[in-house]
This record gives sequence, structure tokens and C-alpha cells, in this order.
Amino acid sequence: MQIYLVGGAVRDQLLDYPVYDKDWVVVGASAEEMLEQGFQPVGQDFPVFIHPDSGEEYALARTERKSGKGYTGFQYHASKAVTLEEDLLRRDLTINAMAMDDAGNIVDPYNGQSDLKYKLLRHVSPAFSEDPLRVLRVARFASRYHHLGFQVADDTLSLMKSLSQTDELEHLTAERVWKEFERALGEISPQVFLQVLQSCAATLKVFPELHSQFTDTVCKAFTEVTNKTAQPETRFACLLTLCGEIDIAALCDRLKTPKAYKELALQCQQQHQALSRFDYLAPDTKLQIISQLDLIRRPQRLEALLPCVEALHSDISITTLNPILESINQIQPKQLMQEGFKGPELGKEIEKRRLQICESFS
Ligand code: ATP
Ligand code: MG
Repeated sequence: MQIYLVGGAVRDQLLDYPVYDKDWVVVGASAEEMLEQGFQPVGQDFPVFIHPDSGEEYALARTERKSGKGYTGFQYHASKAVTLEEDLLRRDLTINAMAMDDAGNIVDPYNGQSDLKYKLLRHVSPAFSEDPLRVLRVARFASRYHHLGFQVADDTLSLMKSLSQTDELEHLTAERVWKEFERALGEISPQVFLQVLQSCAATLKVFPELHSQFTDTVCKAFTEVTNKTAQPETRFACLLTLCGEIDIAALCDRLKTPKAYKELALQCQQQHQALSRFDYLAPDTKLQIISQLDLIRRPQRLEALLPCVEALHSDISITTLNPILESINQIQPKQLMQEGFKGPELGKEIEKRRLQICESFS
């Protein structure tokens, strides 16, 4: 059996980029032979094994045949006879379809090295169109390597356009779409992820809410945000806020985003304007915002929300918020009870004192 390093690890090594996970392909071996050598099986549909020591993934060389819709609609064929070139042929991009043997020799049947040199994200074969996930992956790689000058090859973009006109993208699960989106949010240029998806009209299928809202102006403002913060949650909240009149709750529910993303985006959309000029608000408005955000019980919410406000506004006045919260925390209901307040009167007195505090900071 021969073992090769493949995919992202080869690409990133050639790009002088940090390599985080290593994938290996095994040619000329059977599943039984892998098990005999102590590898642990993981794949259900195709033979992937975990190395007993390194924990890295080793996949038997395989070919695939489309048998249904979406990302999972494939039948795989792995046998000792499948060659490395055949395995590399089923991969998405030429720069992801290179292998390296243990002597460091590159196997590059689809000219990945040339595309690396010319900074092109180019599909390996027309079979690219069989898996809609590839549209999202290409957009994500474009967002990752944009600062290096990478672009999607014209022919590949054409395939992405045709694919986006079919119903294939609708067969991707929310989890897959979100996973790609979230990863793109952590890349250096997340705006490029949306630009690429928009340019092939894939946004209409996967992020219909954003398709018309993500204008050039929004893209520019979002790019500024991404230069100020690398946090995916913050970037997501700012993006949706910049997109204006969109139903964030519906979008997050549809994409099944983690709760933290949804909550932060909603709070940001609703409160970023007011928070940015908090010092100038009327005392009762200050108190209203504090209670709407439940900041007395959950002051930690500010840790997530303030970076959004800072990323969206170049000029913020929010120096009185923390002192107000600190003073409000000093109010002792017990002491007020000793002073004779109880029931609804106690609640009213607390509210009155909170307002007085806001007034004292105006
Ligand atoms: P990353 O740095 O994000 O891990 P990667 O290229 O290593 O990038 P993986 O998802 O780890 O991406 O996949 C490893 C390799 O498997 C890819 O380089 C590519 O060759 C192939 N691959 C993964 N997903 C697909 C897909 N949907 N269609 C075709 N090939 C794919
Ligand atoms: Mg990888």
C-alpha cells in the first residue's frame, strides 16, 4: 500500500500557510488490511480510518458516482484497484487535488500547482456540479485566500451559476450551510464569501434574506467591521444589522445557528444605535435599554454586545453605562425592606432609585 498526504495540507504547505489538519489517502489497500494494521474505522458510507497514534484520517482511494440529490447523494467505490489519479479526480478544486508522498514528491495530475501560482480556484472536472456543497466551499476558499489575490476561475463560476439555478442547493441541510457560513465568518475576508455566492446567485437559495440586502454599500461597511474584529459572532451580528430590515430570528431559526449567534444579532440590531450614543440619552431611555437587555441580571451580555457597537460606529459615547450598572447594583432591596417598603411599593422604590441613578449620570 502507498500512503499520500492529500488535499488542504498539501495546498497550504505549498502556499506556506499553517497546516491544521492532515488528510491521507491510501492506495492499494483493502479495509481488512487497514484494520489488521490497527486503524479504527469511522466512515459509514466510505472507508475512512483513524490512525491509532496520530488520530489523523486515512481514506482508501475511492471513486464516486452520483446517486441522489445534495451533498450526500453519492455512491462510493473503494478497491485496491482505484488509482491515486482517480481519487484526486473526484475532488473539488485543482489546488485541493494534489498529493504528496513520504519523500515530498508532489503528484499533481490536474495542474494544481499552476493554479496556485496563478491564484485560481478552478474545478477539477465537470463532475464538480454533482455536489452543491462545492459552491459553498469555493466561496469559503475565496474568502480565505482573497488577500493573497485568489479568484474563482471563470469556467468554475459558470458551473456555480448553473448549479445555483437547479434545486441542488436546496438539498443541503441547514447544518452544512451554517457550518460553511460560520467557517467563512472566521476567515480573513468573510465578505468575499457572500460576494462570490451572490455573483453566482447561490444566495437566492441559501441566504435569500441577504441576496438583495447585501449591497455594495453594505459590503463595504461589513468589510470595515471585519477589519476591526475577528470574532465570528460579532461579525455575524454586525452583518445582519447592516443588512437593515431583515427578520434575524427567522433567518437564524432557518439556518439553525447556535443560540448565542441569534441572541447577539437580535440585540445588536435592536440596540446598537441607542447604545452607541448612550451618554446622550434621556435618563428614562437609559433605564429602558438597561432593562430591555436585562443588564442588571446579565452584565456579561455587554462583553459580547460592546464589540459590535464599536465595530459599527466610529464614534461612540458609552462611558456612563458601567458606572450606572455599578450604582444600580449597590441598591439593597433588604435595606429598603427595613426602611418599610414591601410588595409593589418595594418594586416601585427600586425603579425610582434606578432612575435617580440614571439622572445623576446625565
Ligand atoms: P481546510 O483547510 O478547510 O481543512 P481542506 O481542503 O483540507 O481545507 P477538507 O474539508 O478537510 O478541506 O477536505 C479535504 C479534501 O477533501 C479537500 O482538499 C478536497 O480535496 C476533498 N473534499 C472535501 N470536501 C469535498 C467536496 N464536497 N467535494 C469534493 N472534494 C472534497
Ligand atoms: Mg482539511
